[in-house]
Amino acid sequence: MQPELPEVYTIASTKPGPTVAILGGVHGDEYEGVIAARWLAKFLKNNLVSGNVKISAPAHPAAWKATLRESPIDGKNLARIFPGLANGSATQKVAHEITERVIRGADLLIDLHSAGTNFEMPFLCGYHGGTGKISDESQRFADTFCADFTWQHFGQPLPGRSLSTAFDLNIPAIYTEGRGGRSIQYDDLQGYIDGVRRVLRELQMVTSAPISQVASCRVIGEGNTDAGVTAKIAGYIVTRAKCGQPVLRQEIIADIVDVYGEVLSQIHAPHDGFIMMRRRDARIEVGDSLFIFAKKDVRS
Ligand SMILES: [Zn+2]
Repeated sequence: MQPELPEVYTIASTKPGPTVAILGGVHGDEYEGVIAARWLAKFLKNNLVSGNVKISAPAHPAAWKATLRESPIDGKNLARIFPGLANGSATQKVAHEITERVIRGADLLIDLHSAGTNFEMPFLCGYHGGTGKISDESQRFADTFCADFTWQHFGQPLPGRSLSTAFDLNIPAIYTEGRGGRSIQYDDLQGYIDGVRRVLRELQMVTSAPISQVASCRVIGEGNTDAGVTAKIAGYIVTRAKCGQPVLRQEIIADIVDVYGEVLSQIHAPHDGFIMMRRRDARIEVGDSLFIFAKKDVRS
């Protein structure tokens, strides 16, 4: 079966300037990024004053139509197989198309994700820091974006991500997350749009952008949604804490109970910090990712 390749919209200004690549809907169950990217595509037609913006949203049309995180054709997660393969499986072809038509040649990649069906995350902008010029620039753009949280992951992005492909091509990159759950929160959607506008203003590609109403909370830690605190036993997770909430080391975050409500075990915060990801579905199997925590980032 031939995959449907994503459409790429290019908004070109007559004045030379940087090229910014924007992705939404790399995961097909994340609505916020697609709608924000499409809103921006329309807005920028009349408001881009220099450079080019390349937008692909939904970046994974088959997954988007099926409202699935993975491809309904080959079962693959697009965000794990970048840079893709021209003659690979359906999803590898999509990754290859995005790499070649959207990411390559850009001066910045902005990948608009959200927590999707399975997870909840606070509104955040993430980047990979500590590896030199590309990560320093990524940090600057993440700070400019100014989400509720600015999350630094130390070192190179893990392979297979759009961000790792950007890094391999020497392109700074940031990504967003929002609350997800197949609902759209006004603050998240507006936050994505306004954050991108602030970055474009910083690059002098638009003349104005809304000023952020929040002082972003800077945090640091591993952001892999395949890892974090995983379930050691099966059961039902009863959450005691909210996403984005500050926690203290050893604080009880959740109980794992059996079907009679009997507590089988408890989950403690591994360190002082913040809850950056929470699993939504209460029924859990061994190995399921339950929470991700981040520490306060003490950089000045
Ligand atoms: Zn995603």
